[in-house]
Amino acid sequence: MTEKVVIIGSGPSGWTAAIYAARANLEPLVFEGLSNDENMSVGRPPLGQLFLTTEVENFPGFPFGRLESFLDSAIGKELSYLRSPTPKDDEHHAVTGPDLMLLMKQQAINFGTRIKAEDIVDVHFDSSPFRLITNSGESVVCHSVIIATGARANYLGLESEAKFKNQGVSACAVCDGALPRFRNKPLVVVGGGDSAVEEADYLSKFASRVYMVHRRDALRASKIMQQRALNNPKIEVVWNHGLVEVLGDDKQGVTHARLENTVDKSEKKVDASGVFLAIGHTPNTAFLKGKLQMNPKGYLVWTKPQRTYTSVEGVFAAGDVADDYYRQAITAAGTGCMAALDAERYLAAKGL
Ligand code: NAP
Repeated sequence: MTEKVVIIGSGPSGWTAAIYAARANLEPLVFEGLSNDENMSVGRPPLGQLFLTTEVENFPGFPFGRLESFLDSAIGKELSYLRSPTPKDDEHHAVTGPDLMLLMKQQAINFGTRIKAEDIVDVHFDSSPFRLITNSGESVVCHSVIIATGARANYLGLESEAKFKNQGVSACAVCDGALPRFRNKPLVVVGGGDSAVEEADYLSKFASRVYMVHRRDALRASKIMQQRALNNPKIEVVWNHGLVEVLGDDKQGVTHARLENTVDKSEKKVDASGVFLAIGHTPNTAFLKGKLQMNPKGYLVWTKPQRTYTSVEGVFAAGDVADDYYRQAITAAGTGCMAALDAERYLAAKGL
C-alpha cells in the first residue's frame, strides 16, 4: 500500500497537519515516536515538547478558565494516564501542555488519522514514491511526507553533567522538579531565556531557593517573563556566570554547582541538589542528514518563502524542526496547517 501522506512527529505541528490532511481525505498516517528511555531522556517524547511543560497560557482559544469538564469529555479514559492531575478543588486554571496535545491528537483521530507509536530512523527520498524505514525495520511507502519532528533541549556537554543525569541533572523541570530530592533544597537553573524563567518559576514552588545562572548581565527572556523571575522572591539571578562543574556523590547525587564568573573568571560554589539546563534547543533531524537541506544549526530549510517546501519535492517541513526563531506552539500549529495544505495541493497536481 502506498500512503498519500505520512506525518513524522506528534507535537502541535504534526497533529495540526494530521487534522487538515484527514479532513482533506488524505488518510494521514502519523508516526508519533517511541516512548522509550532514550527519547524521554533526551527530551524527545511522543506528543513533543509541550508534553514536558506545565500550563499553556498563550495558545489562542484556551483562556485561563475552567477546562476540566471539557477535557474529561474530550479525552478518552484510555489516555487518562497521560493527563495532568486534576486540581483538587474547582479552581480556575489554564490548559496544560500534555492536555493540549491530547486534545489535538483526539481531534486528529476523530477525522480518521491513523497513528503508529514508532520512530522513523531512515528515509529514501531519491525516487518517488518515497520509502521510510521504521525503528522495527518496516518499510513505509508514501507519496508525500510532512516532517514535524521538532527540537529538543540542549545540554552544556560537561562530563559531570552527564555523570549526574537522572541524579539531579535535568533539562526538564516539569518532568523532574517535583521529585523528593529537590524539595525544599536549593537548585540551579542555567540559561537566561523564556525557558530558563519558566523552569526557575516552576521549580520555585518546590525548592528553597533557585539560582538562575546566566552568562550575561541581561536576560534574553521576554519582558513579562523577566518580571516573573525578578519578582519571585525565591529566584536569585546569578549574573555573568556559567556552570563549569556539577558536584556530588553516588549516594546523594548532585550536592553543589561550581560556577565561573564570565567577566573576571573567579569561581564560586553554591549548594544545589539539582541542576536544570535551559540553554536552547537542537532540531530532531539526525535521521535526515544528507537527505534534506539544513541550515548550519541542523534546522530544515524552507526552500520557498511562505511555503513549507523542503529541498525534495513532495516533502514538507512544519513546526520547530524548521523554525529556530519563533518556536511557539501556535506557530508550529500554523505551519502544520500550511504543510498539510501544501501536501494536498502537491498530491492534487500530481493526480494522486
Ligand atoms: P533561547 O531563547 O535561545 O535562550 C537560551 C538561553 O540559554 C539564552 O539566555 C542563552 O544565553 C543561554 N545559553 C545558550 N547556550 C548557552 C551555553 N552554552 N552556556 C550558557 N548559556 C547558554 O531558548 P529558550 O529559552 O529555550 O526559548 C526558545 C524559544 O521558545 C523562544 O522563542 C522563547 O520565547 C520560546 N519560549 C516561550 C515560552 C513562553 O512564552 N512561556 C517559554 C519557553 C520558551 P544568551 O542570552 O547569552 O544567548
